[in-house]
Amino acid sequence: MKKIFFLFCAFFFIQNSIAQNGYHLLCGKVIDTKSGTIETQKTIIVEGNKIVRIVDGYVQPKGENIQVINLKNKVVMPGLIDFHVHIEQEFDRNTRLNNYILNEADVAFNSVGFAKTTLLNGFTTVRDLGGTGVNISVRNAINAGKIPGPRVFTAGKSLATTGGHADPTNGSSRKLIGNPGPKEGVVNSVEDAKKAVRQRYKNGADCIKITATGGVLSVAKSGDNPQFTIEEVKAICETAKDYGMHVAAHAHGDEGMQRAIIGGVKTIEHGTYMSEETMDLMKKHDAYLVPTITAGKEVEEKAKIDGFYPAIVVPKALAVGPQIQGTFARAYKKGVGIAFGTDAGVFKHGNNGKEFGFMVEAGMPAMETIQAATITNAMLLKMENEIGQIQKGFFADIIAVDEDPTKNIATMENVLFVMKNGVIYKN
Ligand SMILES: [Zn+2]
Repeated sequence: MKKIFFLFCAFFFIQNSIAQNGYHLLCGKVIDTKSGTIETQKTIIVEGNKIVRIVDGYVQPKGENIQVINLKNKVVMPGLIDFHVHIEQEFDRNTRLNNYILNEADVAFNSVGFAKTTLLNGFTTVRDLGGTGVNISVRNAINAGKIPGPRVFTAGKSLATTGGHADPTNGSSRKLIGNPGPKEGVVNSVEDAKKAVRQRYKNGADCIKITATGGVLSVAKSGDNPQFTIEEVKAICETAKDYGMHVAAHAHGDEGMQRAIIGGVKTIEHGTYMSEETMDLMKKHDAYLVPTITAGKEVEEKAKIDGFYPAIVVPKALAVGPQIQGTFARAYKKGVGIAFGTDAGVFKHGNNGKEFGFMVEAGMPAMETIQAATITNAMLLKMENEIGQIQKGFFADIIAVDEDPTKNIATMENVLFVMKNGVIYKN
């Protein structure tokens, strides 16, 4: 017992001493996400949780307690930011059942693994767009250093209308259906809208997510009908603004998307049936598209497996899934702002890096996909001076891959080195 206690203390001592003393990262190639260029032979000097200096060439440290990390044959870049994940969940055949049999503690334990997997695959920051509210506790546990995971900015529970995508009792038997209201994230008036946003703030959310249209995986008929009035959207966005929160809108159908953009949302998630007119509206209102192509591919594939999704979901998955990549291609070409986001949780956490390849396939240059996952998302989080770049004074969120992603984008699916906040999680 004594021995175990000693090892325990030693472990913490080592962890702390590493965090305080710092590193010299000898980097063969470093991506400058701001200019979109790749620099060669740099040393990144990390002290505590910050990047304190970047110097030319390979510089060995003078102090004894500074560790040297050899990344001379790697391509180094800032930690990636995924703007659309569901950290609490990973969709499978049992997801509907799980809503009724899992307790909050079960959801929390599942989230621990998902958060770690996300981080180890190079995503040092995520925006969580909806779960039960356990995601708020997950964020707190990560920030407190209790579990490894990315920086989380969470919406807590998504806001829906009665019977809409993200109504928590959607598709349940009448015995269980109840009458959820703004406290549970269900909104049916302007007053409800304000109350639901304030409740999210009180619960500890960082941002607001609304389901502006029907969705694929909810047990409901329409995957694209508008589900909020424009007055409700406006009330949500104006109230969110009072609390320093931006609003993200899940949207497949064009009408609901337009109401969301005019109502003041910052990001459109999926954007499946976006018209040219709506693309112009996005540009006019400075709204960003979060493509989630990986999720589109996943639902299309899984819908072909008998019994994987409820019968009512299958036609929606087969209709929506194949559209998403094409819409992204048109929106990018038209100059709509793109924020990198995958919808991980609809597919397996950790596969977020596949999105880069799908974006390149659709016509976006590799460097721009990396910029979408770093500087763009940092700017939307109002953290452009803290994350998204390898710069003096920024948080030491640093990752490395084997190959130059502008030559082989698949390298983004195989992140080999991960540092977050000055702590190495993978080497
Ligand atoms: Zn989602």
